Amino acid sequence: MILDTVFSPTLLAMIGLLLGAIIGSFLNVVIYRLPLILRSEWNNEAKLFLGMAPDTTNSLSLSTPRSRCPDCGTQLKAIHNIPVLSYCFLRGRCSNCNSLISIQYPLIELLSAFLTAYILISYGLSDKALFCLIFTYSLIALAVIDMREQILPDQITLPLLWLGLILSLAGYWTNSFDAIIGASIGYMSLWSVMKIFKLITGKEGMGYGDFKLNAAIGAWLGWQMVPTVILLSSFLGAVIGLFAIVFLGHDRRSPFAFGPYLCLAGWVAMQWGDQLGYLFSYLSV
Ligand SMILES: [Zn+2]
Repeated sequence: MILDTVFSPTLLAMIGLLLGAIIGSFLNVVIYRLPLILRSEWNNEAKLFLGMAPDTTNSLSLSTPRSRCPDCGTQLKAIHNIPVLSYCFLRGRCSNCNSLISIQYPLIELLSAFLTAYILISYGLSDKALFCLIFTYSLIALAVIDMREQILPDQITLPLLWLGLILSLAGYWTNSFDAIIGASIGYMSLWSVMKIFKLITGKEGMGYGDFKLNAAIGAWLGWQMVPTVILLSSFLGAVIGLFAIVFLGHDRRSPFAFGPYLCLAGWVAMQWGDQLGYLFSYLSV
């Protein structure tokens, strides 16, 4: 159902910016808390396995307790929880202890706001826009969690994979035949790269989260887009990685997350994949 005849692009942009900033604020909570929740669950599983008493004092979830300053623990007031604006109004510092608030929070909110506005203008207020937004928010959360923690949680990659397969039944971005092959090739291609890399260097260059994420992207976009996503993510990884080593003094032996480049390439492929495919085939001739 497309209602965009009723809404002008300006109105769609305003709705998108507002909605995107609010969801970006929730994405910050997911990015910050999900790894902590997972770590506490893994800890308890290990303790149970070893016959030790699990730790029941940790009650952190995505909804409770309310957001706090990570330094002094003061609970944030509603006025300090407004996306982007609170950060500017507090000049990036906690109102209680004056410690610096990470620039990550407003940046994620702004990114989410602009991408939401872009998607609503491109697709109108439609079911396709809704699914594109779910894809986008999942990739933002995955990219930043992988950058910070070097993990791509199954709690996001697997539902994204299933949703991609289910949506292929209605043929939003691809049909089910191409989606199932896309998921398999997405997983197998990176898995083979990791195995070959391990045979040559003895090190594991990628994790299983990368394979699952690539499978999810293959399920959403179809197998035809998998080579484009791998080429583009490797290219971005090489260029940005080299830039970080040469200009930012990044240690070349320190862990290197591939997930953010897959997320970026997957998102770009969803929007401009066909044009990129033509470009790559043109360059390879
Ligand atoms: Zn504080």
